[in-house]
Amino acid sequence: MNRKVFAVKYATRSAQTKSYYHGHSDPHENSTSDMDYFVWIIQDENQTILVDCGFTKETAEKRGRKYLNSPVDSLKDLGISPTDVDYMIITHLHYDHIGNISRFPNAKFFIQEKEMAFWTGKYAGKKEFKHHIEVVDVLTLVEENFNNRVIFLNGNKQIFPGIEVILAPGHSSGLQMVAITDGDSRILLTSDASHFYSHYQQDRLFSTIDNLPAMYDALEMIREEEAKGTIIVPGQSHMIYWQGDFVGRLYFC
Ligand SMILES: [Zn+2]
Repeated sequence: MNRKVFAVKYATRSAQTKSYYHGHSDPHENSTSDMDYFVWIIQDENQTILVDCGFTKETAEKRGRKYLNSPVDSLKDLGISPTDVDYMIITHLHYDHIGNISRFPNAKFFIQEKEMAFWTGKYAGKKEFKHHIEVVDVLTLVEENFNNRVIFLNGNKQIFPGIEVILAPGHSSGLQMVAITDGDSRILLTSDASHFYSHYQQDRLFSTIDNLPAMYDALEMIREEEAKGTIIVPGQSHMIYWQGDFVGRLYFC
């Protein structure tokens, strides 16, 4: 199968390096560093799948993020019209992953039941959590559920041949990673289960936490994948290495 996986960077921010780590205490991390924002595309002869859809320009301005390009426009640069997107795998509901849902009129949305339950449940409005979402995005997803466009998942599942979602909570209640396998090649899109290489490689947690032990378990899962030869693509690293190439390059499984 001629399957392609793209990572598309659409925004960036610069912040103190230590702010990217929970319980930071290393004085050497008083420097600043970049954190980038991505959507990912999985494309083959049969279908186009988007993994998350990024935030809007308005949200970027409100939150002080540097907006490089709308993910919707980046898709067009790759020859993909929003109407071409058949499915969207939503890794989790944080604002930087689901701000453009309404731009994809034909897509159905894969989401973990636990993630949707959390953001429509008792604790979503608590200040520690609600900062991480745009309420309108959650409302849009609720509406799309009534339009029968949401496909709920309960744990790990192969949703198409060679495309598997892996429940990896901790950063959010029902975060799912995406593994793409073709022959001997396997890529793991970790999303925010590991923002950078350093998080899983050094067993360090990002600063946004839903469940601390679960987050460590997710990092362990990623290390186990890497030990098996899987290419790991962290969620928000400012550099991504796969086959020696940099982000935005095509990868053929
Ligand atoms: Zn997140």
